[in-house]
Amino acid sequence: MSIQKFSPVTEEHLGDFHITTKEEVLEAAQRARKAAPGWAAIPLERRLKHLDKLRKLIIEEGEEIAREISKDTGKPIVDSLMTELMSVPLFLEYYQKEAPDILKTQKVKTPILFPGKSSYIQHYPMGVIAIISPWNFPFQLAMVPLLSALIAGNAVILKPSEVTPLTGMLMKNLMDRINLPKDVCQILMGDGSTGAALTEADVDKIFFTGSVATGKKVMAAAAKKPIPVELELGGKDAFIVCHDAPLERTVKGALWGGLINCGQMCVSVERIFVVESIYDTFVDKLKEEIQKLTIGAPEEQCDIGPMTFPSQIKVVEQHLADALEKGAKITHGGKKITDRPGLFFEPTIIEDVKPGMLIYDEETFGPVLPIIKVRNEHQALKMANDHQYGLTGSVWTSDHKRGLEIASKMECGQAMVNDVVLAVGNPALPFGGVKSSGFGRYHGKEGLLGFTHQKSIMVDRAILSDEPFWFPYAGKLPHMTKIFKSLLKGKMLGAVTELVKIRRKK
Ligand code: NDP
Repeated sequence: MSIQKFSPVTEEHLGDFHITTKEEVLEAAQRARKAAPGWAAIPLERRLKHLDKLRKLIIEEGEEIAREISKDTGKPIVDSLMTELMSVPLFLEYYQKEAPDILKTQKVKTPILFPGKSSYIQHYPMGVIAIISPWNFPFQLAMVPLLSALIAGNAVILKPSEVTPLTGMLMKNLMDRINLPKDVCQILMGDGSTGAALTEADVDKIFFTGSVATGKKVMAAAAKKPIPVELELGGKDAFIVCHDAPLERTVKGALWGGLINCGQMCVSVERIFVVESIYDTFVDKLKEEIQKLTIGAPEEQCDIGPMTFPSQIKVVEQHLADALEKGAKITHGGKKITDRPGLFFEPTIIEDVKPGMLIYDEETFGPVLPIIKVRNEHQALKMANDHQYGLTGSVWTSDHKRGLEIASKMECGQAMVNDVVLAVGNPALPFGGVKSSGFGRYHGKEGLLGFTHQKSIMVDRAILSDEPFWFPYAGKLPHMTKIFKSLLKGKMLGAVTELVKIRRKK
């Protein structure tokens, strides 16, 4: 059994790839277990220096790597370069500067009631991290968690998606070329069965990016052990167009945010709420601008490529058909392109979308802009929030203060004012969802700490023969009652006086 890969552009056969078996996965986990302590023992500065080789390789060979990702996914080479590749060296640079501070032992306050003691928080690697990644951004969504876990001092096993095996092999080759210690980073090609085997292997955390349905299975497998799991799942991101939205920027933002990577993006614009006073102007301009987009193969340097995954076209068609049946109107596009090979689909505008339609309730993951007319921003915000998903969202207005107020009220993990998608590329901003979009955060400080265990340490430097709170209790109750009351009233001096009295009694 092997994975057969077909080009999303030409539909020609591009190769066959090994499916790692359950036995091989379990063996890989054993090897990772053995390799983990050695990697954890290497000082952080040297781990970062080692991984810097990858940053240099990506910078030197960027365009070539981007072409390979585009061959695999069909996305424009500009997208492969800027949205897949670029973020990896940026994240490495960010962690080179910040990781020493994020991972260092922190001294924290100790209550005055505990004299002679000091308290610390330490962060230490978890051990072996399993990363399971999807096909839509097969490089970035695998490499950023993989590198974060390695920087934090863990061994890693990555299972990339069977849909994009060329990128899986590309990552494997790149990681092999930087010569990490043996078995510290293993990339296992395979399908869902390989992913399932990995969730059952001897690992210490599972970092999963993918659909809600698979995420639930991964969480169930993690619960059996139990081990921590982080789920980065789907979205149905809201785009709120206020009455005073800067028209040109907002229209271009909607087009890019909804159609980049052919809409196959967890942070894609999937619900556009437009206030009725600006509705006609906005939609007319959107229709004018969508016609200017070019569609073609990566080598043709067009704006929109084919879809990556054949069965995703069926999902898009099903969502559109359901919406039409329930009263929506397609006002641009709406069909698979049939006069050329490949998985090309017309960029689509669909209006009169409402709750109860699949295209409103579920993730579409295609080149479709669903538009919902609303009375005002208040209704837009209420509808945006009244949904199972909460990954990212955006609000578009000339009034920054009000924009920020609305963004603050959006129920999602990341919100933008007059911008779309880009916040995910800021290495300092934690990323992750709420509700069915998952939980846990990566990127930023949280993105490293999420791959560590915290250990709290308290050290007694006074080394007295005993403590006032220890046995025996006889005769201590009146003092303890006074300490209790003084503490709750914030009278520290009173509490300390009573402690001294207990000591003197001895
Ligand atoms: P899937 O859930 O189908 O697959 C995700 C990964 O899980 C793949 O590597 C897949 O392998 C693997 N897998 C499949 N079955 C199992 C199993 N039983 N146990 C363990 N692993 C398994 O998602 P897609 O690849 O289709 O990705 C699209 C989804 O990902 C969308 O919902 C999208 O919104 C979400 N996503 C979320 C992001 C976020 O950051 N929140 C970012 C990007 C995407 P294989 O593909 O080989 O079958």
